[in-house]
Amino acid sequence: MNVLPWLHPERVAKLEAALAERILIIDGAMGTMIQRHELQEVDYRGERFASGYDALFAADGHAHGDGCGCEGFDQRGNNDLLTLSRPEIISDIHSAYLAAGADLVETNTFNSTSVSLADYHLQHLVHELNLVGAKLARAACDAAEAINPSKPRFVIGVLGPTSRTASLSPDVNRPGFRATSFDELAVAYREATSGLIDGGSDVIMVETIFDTLNAKAALFAIQDEFEARGARLPVLISGTITDASGRTLSGQTAEAFWYSLRHAQPLSIGLNCALGARDLRAHIDILAQVADTNISCHPNAGLPNAFGGYDETPEDMAGMLREFAEAGLLNLVGGCCGTTPEHIAAIAEAMHDVPPRALPALEAAA
Ligand SMILES: [Zn+2]
Ligand SMILES: [Zn+2]
Repeated sequence: MNVLPWLHPERVAKLEAALAERILIIDGAMGTMIQRHELQEVDYRGERFASGYDALFAADGHAHGDGCGCEGFDQRGNNDLLTLSRPEIISDIHSAYLAAGADLVETNTFNSTSVSLADYHLQHLVHELNLVGAKLARAACDAAEAINPSKPRFVIGVLGPTSRTASLSPDVNRPGFRATSFDELAVAYREATSGLIDGGSDVIMVETIFDTLNAKAALFAIQDEFEARGARLPVLISGTITDASGRTLSGQTAEAFWYSLRHAQPLSIGLNCALGARDLRAHIDILAQVADTNISCHPNAGLPNAFGGYDETPEDMAGMLREFAEAGLLNLVGGCCGTTPEHIAAIAEAMHDVPPRALPALEAAA
């Protein structure tokens, strides 16, 4: 058993009370909202990264100067960097989702691990991006909660899957090759977790898991960080299904996914991304039967169309997810790729009179 005390016991009490009372609403996609701004390279860079590298701190710690030889790299698409270069955009997106009815908002930190930031040569920013990312979400939640104290708002500190997988080879010709390892991932996740906690996250979510070994490294790192602090936050786990046979990329069914991660005693387990609500239904049903914890689901707005966009309207998604709720499958629900505040408002409206799933009383531990 995990016997560490809660880091913020009063926040956990509020979250547990809200979960007992209603289906809680998670926000929608960050990336979809960022796309609306049609940002160019110069926008991503802002002042501090105007030359394509960090003008304040060099990755290796040297003092920049004439002939230091620093080279710039493209930052367009580095959405997490906007936390530093365009924080007002990120804050406004959080506020829009809170206004739409989200109880929980996710930090803009999906790629803020050293593994993913290495793609942009900015791996020294891990702590700062997670710290400031959590602070932006915290400020937006606190402002919303101040307006309506009867509706507490929670910051989900997000750990994404990273751009590399520990249990599969990215090279079909070298099946034994691994682009990363459990140990490398654990170090990366711990650094990110530390920033998320320092920035005021209420919970930590390991999200969009397509490789259970990556998720195990994340959960191991989170536990290490909790032990170092002598206190913990609730942990949410959300996997993704990547093919029609209903398996995660590393080959597991939803049921196996739960049994391989339940030792972490998560506050919730669920699925997000990859598919629309319709295609996640059967897998959420299985999780709801086997898991003695809360169930979450935040699907994409359908399958991507020919242009890489998503077509399900707020009404489409809300209608399907209401059926999930009426079947007693949901404790937390929201949206992933292609969803907007309009989707979240429709989903929140569809949930407001449906009770949350009752946690099953599984065999008590002897
Ligand atoms: Zn330099
Ligand atoms: Zn998604």
